Amino acid sequence: MSSGEPRSQDAAERLLRKLKEIVGDNHVLAAEAHMEKHLVDWRRRYRGAAVGVVFPRSTEEVASVVKVCADAGIGIVPQGGNTGMCGGAIPSPDGHSMVVCPGRMNRVREIDPTNNTMTVEAGCILATIQEVAADNDRLFPLSLGSEGSCQIGGNVATNAGGTAVLRYGPMRDLVLGIEAVLPDGRIWNGLSRLRKDNTGYDLKQLFIGSEGTLGIITAVVLKLYPKPHSQLTALAAILDLDLALALLSRLRSELGDRISNFEIMSRNEFALVLAHNPELVDPLDAASPWYAFIEVTDTIVGDDLAAALEESLAAALESGIATDAVIAANLAQAAAIWRIRHSVTEANIASGFSISHDTSVPVSQVPTFVAQVDAAIAAALPEVSTYYVGHLGDGNIHVVVVFPRDTYATQDHFDDGVRAANAIVDRITVALGGSISAEHGIGQSNVGRLLQFKPPLEIEFMRSIKDLFDPRGIMNPGKLF
Ligand SMILES: Cc1cc2nc3c(=O)[nH]c(=O)nc-3n(C[C@H](O)[C@H](O)[C@H](O)COP(=O)(O)OP(=O)(O)OC[C@H]3O[C@@H](n4cnc5c(N)ncnc54)[C@H](O)[C@@H]3O)c2cc1C
Repeated sequence: MSSGEPRSQDAAERLLRKLKEIVGDNHVLAAEAHMEKHLVDWRRRYRGAAVGVVFPRSTEEVASVVKVCADAGIGIVPQGGNTGMCGGAIPSPDGHSMVVCPGRMNRVREIDPTNNTMTVEAGCILATIQEVAADNDRLFPLSLGSEGSCQIGGNVATNAGGTAVLRYGPMRDLVLGIEAVLPDGRIWNGLSRLRKDNTGYDLKQLFIGSEGTLGIITAVVLKLYPKPHSQLTALAAILDLDLALALLSRLRSELGDRISNFEIMSRNEFALVLAHNPELVDPLDAASPWYAFIEVTDTIVGDDLAAALEESLAAALESGIATDAVIAANLAQAAAIWRIRHSVTEANIASGFSISHDTSVPVSQVPTFVAQVDAAIAAALPEVSTYYVGHLGDGNIHVVVVFPRDTYATQDHFDDGVRAANAIVDRITVALGGSISAEHGIGQSNVGRLLQFKPPLEIEFMRSIKDLFDPRGIMNPGKLF
C-alpha cells in the first residue's frame, strides 16, 4: 500500500505545484467541485477522494507525473473514460491518491494498412479509433455500448469484450504492442508491430486486464481487419436456450466466420427495454421467451450474404429451432434492432435497484446455468426480478437482478439481498466451471470474490507479479487485490 503522503495541506500543495510545472496550470484540478466527475463512477456506486486530478499530454509527462507522485509516496489511479463497471478508476475515499487521466493523449501515431496495424495513444476514444480505421478501409472490431466515451487505454486495462468477441476475440486478441509508464516512472516501450515474436514471456499480456495496477498504459499497437462491405442484422424468436445454441451452431456451420454477433435476451428484459423506450417497436409479431440478435458481415459486396442468411434462418424456422425471425431491410431497421440490445442498462437502472453479474460458463452450460440461477433466485428472493442478456457465443451471460425500490428501501436490506443473489450466482458459476468476471474485471467491486474463487496458487503468482512491477503498491491501490 502507498504510505499515504502527502497527509498535510503543505505537502499536497507542494505536490500540486510540481505537477503544474510538468503539465501546465490548467491541467491539474484540485478543487472538490472541479474534481467531482472524476471521483464518482457513472453508476454512482463508488465515491472517492483525491489530492488532485492531472491531465498529462505525452508519455514523458506521464513519466514525470508518476515519478513525482512516487517520490511523494501517494497512490496513482489511472482513469480513462470512467465507464468501467467495477469502480476500478475511482480512488479510495482516504484522499491520498492522484487521479491520472490520459484523455489529452489522443493522437493516432501511425496507421499501416499493409501491416494491418494502428498505433494510438491511450486517451483515444474507442469510437474515434473505429472511424479512423474505417476511413482507411479497415475494421477495428472492438464494440461496446460505451464506445463514444471509453478510451483505448481503459479498454486494454480492462481487457474489454463487447459484442464482436465471437468473431474477433476480446481486447487481449487485438493488441500487438504496448507502451507504458511503470510505477517508478520508467517508460517501457513495447510497441511491437509484429504478429510473430517468440522471444520469451509475452509482457504486454500482463498489462492487458491489469486494471491500472502495474503501470499507466500510454500507447498501444492495435490489430486491424478487412472492413466488411456487407452487413446484415436479424432478430430471431426462440423458445429456450438449448434452441438458441442450436441456432448459433447451425448459423456457424452454414455461414462460418461471417457471424460476427450473436446476443441473447430474455423476454422480460426485452419487454422492459420496450416499456422504457416507447419510441422502440417490437420488430416481431408475437412475444417469445428468448430473442437472438444476430449480425453477419462479409467483405464481399453483393447479395450472397443476404441469400445465405435468409436460407439459414428459413431452415431454422422450418425445423422449429426458431419460431419467428426478421432480417432488417435497411440500416435504420438494423440500428433500431441494436438499440433494443444497447438500451438494457438504462432500462434496468430505471426499473429499480439493479445489479448485473458478468458470468462466463462453458458455452454448452449456458442453459443449465440460467435454469439453476432462475430457480434459486426465485426461491430465495421472491420479490426481485431476474433478467438475462448476454453474448451467447462466448458463454458470457449477464444476470441482472432488479430489487424493487419500495421493498428494498433500506441500505441494509438491499445489501443483504445483493449478498444473497451474489452467493447464488457465484455458487452455480463455480459448480459449472465458470468465471465470476467474464469481461468487466475486478476493480473494487469484486476484490473479495476474486480472493474467494481464484485458486490460491494463481493469487500467489498474481501477487508476485504485482510486487515485481510495483513493490511499493502505489499503482491503483485497493484494486484487484
Ligand atoms: C453503456 C455501457 C456498456 C458497456 N458495455 C461493455 C461491454 O459490452 N463489454 C465490456 O467489456 N465492458 C463494457 N462496459 C464497461 C466499460 O466501458 C469498459 O470496461 C471499458 O473498457 C472501460 O474503459 P474506460 O476508458 O472507461 O476505463 P475506466 O473506467 O476509466 O477505467 C477502467 C480501469 O482501467 C484502468 N485504466 C484506465 N485507463 C488506463 C490506462 N491508460 N492505463 C492503465 N490503466 C488504465 C483504470 O484504473 C480502471 O481500473 C460498458 C460500459 C457502459 C457504460
